[in-house]
Amino acid sequence: MKQSVIYANIIDATGRDVIENGMVVIEEKRLVYVGEAEKNYPLAEDAAVYDYKNDYVMPGLIEAHSHLAGYGSGNTLDWVVRPVVEKVCQAVHDLEALLNAGFTSVRDMAGLGCRLRTAMNQGLIRGPRIMSANAAISQTCGHSDVWSDFPAEMVQEWEPSHAIADGAEQCRWQTRNQFRQGADFIKIMTTGGIMDTASDPGLSHYTYEEIAVIVEEAKRMGTYVATHAESNAGVYHAVKAGVTSIEHGYMTTDETIELMLEKDCIQIPTLSAMTSLMANVDTMQPHVQAKIRQVVPRAYESVARAHEAGVKMAVGADYLSSPTTGLYGKNGNELYELVKVGFTPMEAIMSCTRNGALLMKMSDEIGTLEAGKLADLIVVNQNPLKNIQCLSDAESVIFVMKEGNVEKEK
Ligand SMILES: [Zn+2]
Repeated sequence: MKQSVIYANIIDATGRDVIENGMVVIEEKRLVYVGEAEKNYPLAEDAAVYDYKNDYVMPGLIEAHSHLAGYGSGNTLDWVVRPVVEKVCQAVHDLEALLNAGFTSVRDMAGLGCRLRTAMNQGLIRGPRIMSANAAISQTCGHSDVWSDFPAEMVQEWEPSHAIADGAEQCRWQTRNQFRQGADFIKIMTTGGIMDTASDPGLSHYTYEEIAVIVEEAKRMGTYVATHAESNAGVYHAVKAGVTSIEHGYMTTDETIELMLEKDCIQIPTLSAMTSLMANVDTMQPHVQAKIRQVVPRAYESVARAHEAGVKMAVGADYLSSPTTGLYGKNGNELYELVKVGFTPMEAIMSCTRNGALLMKMSDEIGTLEAGKLADLIVVNQNPLKNIQCLSDAESVIFVMKEGNVEKEK
């Protein structure tokens, strides 16, 4: 039996303090021991020994809001006209960047993740474990209707990460259609968004009935619905209708936050994307500039308030991959953004590991370092509780193991 042992300080993300001078033992793909270094632990003679005594071992990071769509730029016209082969190459590149930065799982919130997952299972590409929504569904003139100058049918065919459905029966069909293509969960859009040409992020999209039908179909498949909602109207409706995860979730009222707590929803604030949009606002198309100025300044306060109230949060940067910005692989920036709005570093880490595992529907398998779980772990060359920003730099991540396989070592 293949056995490995890692000597390091341990952040197990269960809520307990750092275990100094710790030891993690792995057999095949599972953790069998996590705790203080035990001199008398029965190690096999041929066990692989990793000595990281001055470093920190923690669960593999979980990127809970990403797009394996290979967009290539922040201009939605490019999303429509970029050839699919180039998109695939970009997504493969992005997966590699995520894994090297310590992400061992990723939730694809509209992208090519279903097919990429198949290719990964065939051993053709490397990257984090993928859970994908396939195409995100919105109403006509909603956030999935990315470029309204073209016929909607053309946009959907050329931009396979977006789908449109109107009325309860089309919503039912489109939900089933995503499952047919391999979706692990469903992503919908209950407000407009920033990047498309026509929608307004301040307005509520989809009726209660339309959302409820999608939730019913997802439940029947044993899974859940995530919604893109950038303002209160779209969050409240969606939570009432049974949606599990709230993507963005800005400008929420206290009443909505109460409801999210009652229904045990998980919010993914994606503040990194907002910060990056604001930093580059002057370079954006005019209609996008106006929407950035409408949404972004109001995002931080409501996320801080929801966190304060106890809403469960997970970590997703929502970066659009781009050869020019090179943000992919710096997704750990989101932990720093959360610390800026009031999270302790440990809360940010647990959001990125333990809470992310809930969204991956793998709480029993990943998200904390505990005996019996899968060996998804990383080693960081400094204490992230003292410097959370080290998690946004792939150089700090010196060792990555996914399901017991060493993916990076230096
Ligand atoms: Zn997104």
